[in-house]
Amino acid sequence: MQIREILNVMEAWAPLAWQESYDNSGLLVGDSSLEAKGVLISLDCTEEVVEEAIKKGCNLIISHHPIVFSGLKKIIGANYVERTVIKAIQNNVVLYASHTNLDNSPKGVSYHLATKLGITGQVLKPMRDALKALQYYVPASHEQALREALHAAGAGNIGEYSSCSFTQEGLGRFQPSAEANPHTGSANVLSEVNEVKVEMIFPAHLESSIISALKSAHPYEEVAYSIYSLDNTWQDVGSGFVGTLEKAVEPTEFLAFVKKRLGLQALKHTALPTAPISKVAVCGGAGSFLIKDALKNQCDAYITSDIKYHEFFDAENQCLLIDVGHYESEVMIIDAIHDYLSKKFSTFAVLLKSETNTNPVFFA
Ligand SMILES: [Zn+2]
Repeated sequence: MQIREILNVMEAWAPLAWQESYDNSGLLVGDSSLEAKGVLISLDCTEEVVEEAIKKGCNLIISHHPIVFSGLKKIIGANYVERTVIKAIQNNVVLYASHTNLDNSPKGVSYHLATKLGITGQVLKPMRDALKALQYYVPASHEQALREALHAAGAGNIGEYSSCSFTQEGLGRFQPSAEANPHTGSANVLSEVNEVKVEMIFPAHLESSIISALKSAHPYEEVAYSIYSLDNTWQDVGSGFVGTLEKAVEPTEFLAFVKKRLGLQALKHTALPTAPISKVAVCGGAGSFLIKDALKNQCDAYITSDIKYHEFFDAENQCLLIDVGHYESEVMIIDAIHDYLSKKFSTFAVLLKSETNTNPVFFA
């Protein structure tokens, strides 16, 4: 099996189109057409992680954080990023990162942080501009086969519902020229055909494969269709996660619970509220950008990391802000990637979780 096949399966879960504009997710180093010998999954990709991969016979490292983030002008080993890249190239180890695209994916990083804390709910800030709508006309005789081909290409899924579409019957008209090669009708004669207008929603990043499925399964030489950009948010895709605890708990009890569940030595938080904690938002990694969304959702607590001093004030004492540490808020994604790939490649033997603790932060 080629490495590319494993990466395609990762991208079915976390399409690269869902990464933030500042990000650098995807294939970073190496040749994805190589035969996959083994996969090592880590949160960060460092020199130690590349050494671990070599030692364990893995030639693909899938990490959450991209080792190359803002570009490299020289690769001479002057810092840990350059040394990691050199070591990977010298040893034919392919480096791949699934970062903010995995944050934004259904059952991504924040979902797994929420699950670890027993929170059930939904995405805190659903993504915009990730959905489009397709409308096309097809003769009634070919309507079902075409609709099924488009569903197979990924169109017509809404939440837990698949094969969603709307159809309307009508009369289509066209007059082929002498140069045309029509499926029905004759040159220079106006034809009328019983046609069906079909509408369905689809993920914007699948547009080219959906249009090619439309054209290859449609009987006409010229396919009449339109694509619309939608203002709708996509409820399953986006940043953060919000939900409720199984039962409301006192704030001090909640802090102890978070520490225990995430295995923390310490956490930082704002002043304790008097009311019990029930509705909680979370965001794996640096999540200050969602403080206002947690407030808007009237959350009792918001758990994330990398909150700056002045950002703690932004909670306006309306929401208990908790900073659990960047590594600690995301490390569970290693297990999640491992579980996902193990299910997809049940016979692939070397699929390992990194044993290198890459957390650069220590507590005294
Ligand atoms: Zn992160």
